[in-house]
Amino acid sequence: MVFYKALLALVACLAAAEPPGAHFAKPFTASAFHDGIVHTHTNRSDGDAEPTAVLDRYRELGFSFVALTDHDKLTKAGLSSPTTHFITIPGVEITGRAGKVPVHVNALCGRSSLVGEKGDKSVDEVLADAIRKANGDGAIALVNHPNFGWALGAKELLEAPPFDLLEIASGHPGVNEAGDASRLSEEALWDELLSQGMHIFGAASDDAHDFIHSGEGREPGRAWIAVWEPKLVKLAVCGAIRQGEFYAAKGARFSSIDLSSSTLTVSAADWDSATDRVEFIGEGGKLLASSSSSPASYSLQGFERYVRARLTRKTGRAWTQAYFVER
Ligand SMILES: [Zn+2]
Ligand SMILES: [Zn+2]
Repeated sequence: MVFYKALLALVACLAAAEPPGAHFAKPFTASAFHDGIVHTHTNRSDGDAEPTAVLDRYRELGFSFVALTDHDKLTKAGLSSPTTHFITIPGVEITGRAGKVPVHVNALCGRSSLVGEKGDKSVDEVLADAIRKANGDGAIALVNHPNFGWALGAKELLEAPPFDLLEIASGHPGVNEAGDASRLSEEALWDELLSQGMHIFGAASDDAHDFIHSGEGREPGRAWIAVWEPKLVKLAVCGAIRQGEFYAAKGARFSSIDLSSSTLTVSAADWDSATDRVEFIGEGGKLLASSSSSPASYSLQGFERYVRARLTRKTGRAWTQAYFVER
């Protein structure tokens, strides 16, 4: 009897110590966000407005933080009348060129002006140079518009030095965001990297240039990221971006994102079940489930490698990060 009881206790103990099976690694709940810009230009490079006017415009549009990312140049500026609800974070678009092929990488939250290689080097070399410069400066490396000039495919990105973020959507109409008949969209390219095990965060880039002269479709406020770090100070916002504590947006917003150990739930305000939907996407860009109600949830079934959610509304889209599954 004593032996039997001891055996039962041992079994109970082993059961308690058992790994929980397929689960998300870092559960969180986010329901308050700061919208911010991680890619935009002033007249210190090829934008059309003074840095202060650019910041003022984003403030008017309701954004809370902005990285001015001029080509090869760290632009420092402030609002015309500072407020406590708005900050700038450092940024530079390292602007490389391999022959005529544009290879651009944003260095966010770094310290220095960083200049891209321009010349006869290969795309791989120019990309590696830019990422290393960003990493060497302690910055967050965001690989911009991979389809611009059809510069970067999965092969180049898989072979690149470690980087943090990939542009998956852009406010700039000329960067081939959607791919073409034979080439992947930026979003599908992201799935390709995720499916190869790369833990890369997806970002949406405004890449605005036209603050005064509109008409080319490069006006501000089209694409942004939303962080859920409550403190609106540079260190905290930069930390949140580095940790992937943000979602990417081009015209649509989540009102909450909740990740438990087994379920991803998202919701959006003013839901219209006739037009709005949430899709849950997994390895290889496979559609795991779709919902026309909010909140929308996806619970792990056990086979998934990662799960991410995409919100589609009349006004645009929003994307959560991809949450990897541990076993
Ligand atoms: Zn660029
Ligand atoms: Zn740019």
